[in-house]
Amino acid sequence: MPLSPEQQAEIDAQRAETHQTRRAVAPGMEAWLYKAVPVLDHGFVRAIDYMGDDAAICQAARVSYGRGTKSVSNDAGLIRYLMRHWHSTPFEMCELKLHVKLPVFVARQWIRHRTANVNEYSARYSILDREFYIPEPGALAAQSTVNNQGRGAALEGAEAARVLDWLRDDATRAYDHYEAMIGETGPDGTPQQGLARELARMNLPANVYTQWYWKVDLHNLFHFLRLRADSHAQWEIRVYAEAICKMVADWVPHAYSAFEDYRLGGAQLSAKGVECVKRMLRGEEVTQETSGMSKGEWREFMGVVG
Ligand SMILES: Cc1cc2nc3c(=O)[nH]c(=O)nc-3n(C[C@H](O)[C@H](O)[C@H](O)COP(=O)(O)OP(=O)(O)OC[C@H]3O[C@@H](n4cnc5c(N)ncnc54)[C@H](O)[C@@H]3O)c2cc1C
Repeated sequence: MPLSPEQQAEIDAQRAETHQTRRAVAPGMEAWLYKAVPVLDHGFVRAIDYMGDDAAICQAARVSYGRGTKSVSNDAGLIRYLMRHWHSTPFEMCELKLHVKLPVFVARQWIRHRTANVNEYSARYSILDREFYIPEPGALAAQSTVNNQGRGAALEGAEAARVLDWLRDDATRAYDHYEAMIGETGPDGTPQQGLARELARMNLPANVYTQWYWKVDLHNLFHFLRLRADSHAQWEIRVYAEAICKMVADWVPHAYSAFEDYRLGGAQLSAKGVECVKRMLRGEEVTQETSGMSKGEWREFMGVVG
């Protein structure tokens, strides 16, 4: 369970409040605000605040005095045009602030996206919770034999059971020692100084959960989602990205639909790739050997056009 009853009560109280504003309000995102969407076994993602909507993108693109929107089809067409031609700054006019609870090894991948503002829970100041990511059996996969940076089929039988036991036991023992080191009494009940939290935390494994507030503009959020909602991203970060995709689809439906079409579902071809497509359309039989591409490039190219 990612939330305690007290935390859920705080969220409910905040969701019960409403305020009047002259600012643009996106009804789709209002429905998501503050709700914790569960991800993995103890994690979540929740929208804390946002700025702008689809109209804000058009308003900025047209540098308007008022709302700056025209007909729905005109606005949707403009947004598609901006996305298609990488005219990205109007998308930067929208912002999203998220509260994310995630395992440290996922956070290490996430934090590589430098174009966001982050404030992480302080494990120098506070004590981390006894919460570790333990994969569901279906997510406990073997090393991929074709991709060094990927996974294959799920582990089975005794091996799966053994791995799960080790993950649980090691995490539990590491946390027990963490608690014992920072405690005010030793194992025999005698008083001890207690190791500083900033040092004791180094004993915790990378599957312990951390939390942060993460604020990003829509252009850079799309960049993050394009990389992390992709099938090549590690599954444990992908499930967070997919949860965020659902929020963004409701927040800025026209922008998300353009993003889905041109970025998530679209593909980029090299000059050699474009030339091969042209030759194929002329009825020529093109092979990897005659394409001018490496084996890896050809495999990816055929993944797009094959
Ligand atoms: C499938 C996958 C595998 C990966 N594997 C590895 C790995 O093995 N090892 C590893 O270290 N990383 C790895 N990464 C991380 C990757 O290299 C990027 O660091 C990460 O995806 C963030 O991308 P970004 O820099 O474009 O994003 P952001 O930091 O959000 O930056 C967005 C854009 O802003 C610009 N920008 C931001 N900061 C600078 C800067 N200082 N200088 C110039 N331009 C800047 C760039 O145009 C950049 O694309 C992997 C990522 C993915 C998706």
